[in-house]
Amino acid sequence: MDRRVFNHCLRWGLDLFFPRHCIHCAAPVEFGQFAYLCAHCRASVEYIRDPSCITCGYPFWGQMVSSRHCPKCRDLNPIFDGGRSLFLHRGAGATFIHSLKYQNGTFLGPDLQLMLHACEPWLLRQGALQVVPVPLHPRRERERGYNQSDWIARQLVGFLPDARFNPCLLRSRDTETQTRLGADERRENMKNAFAIHPKAVLDADQTFLIVDDVLTTGSTLNACARTLAAAGGKQLKVFTLAHG
Ligand SMILES: [Zn+2]
Ligand SMILES: [Zn+2]
Repeated sequence: MDRRVFNHCLRWGLDLFFPRHCIHCAAPVEFGQFAYLCAHCRASVEYIRDPSCITCGYPFWGQMVSSRHCPKCRDLNPIFDGGRSLFLHRGAGATFIHSLKYQNGTFLGPDLQLMLHACEPWLLRQGALQVVPVPLHPRRERERGYNQSDWIARQLVGFLPDARFNPCLLRSRDTETQTRLGADERRENMKNAFAIHPKAVLDADQTFLIVDDVLTTGSTLNACARTLAAAGGKQLKVFTLAHG
């Protein structure tokens, strides 16, 4: 029997006895391509579409705007020169991130591969990419069991035809959790938080795509971009699954 047919039958059989439940609403997920988001919840994911901020990808919701930068980016003064997020950090999108971060949600890989099609044109426009995950401090990575940005970066490499996984950044300081800090404090907190890995091989002429799970103020991605720029990186883009 063909392997694909076999896998299809296997999943059908498993679903019959062990129905899978939606990560967002807990309803059983109907048999189909998606494994852990039901039809209702995946239709509710707010994918980011154009027009959007050219630097971070935040959508303008069709409003007439005089600037091509969103207010966040005007405050941030970004080092990176373009970016995109897949969806807004709300509803089912926020649950997707939460599962990834706190429930070791690597089982969401096949669903993410389907979701990435929503920003395929932007990703393909970037050409050859070195995909760089935002590193976690080793102590935090041990606590969590894995680095979700590293996992997202590998998913992107699997999705794109011309991308290379390049974990060339190190976290040199264990910055305290940023959730309670304001934008200025976050920027200050991130200074010198990253360094280039001593064994890293950088192709400064290629585009670097720095990958994280969520863009909140952009200060973490900006600190990574600053480190890569200091090492000679010229084309610096950012990608996150969610935009906060
Ligand atoms: Zn659902
Ligand atoms: Zn922006």
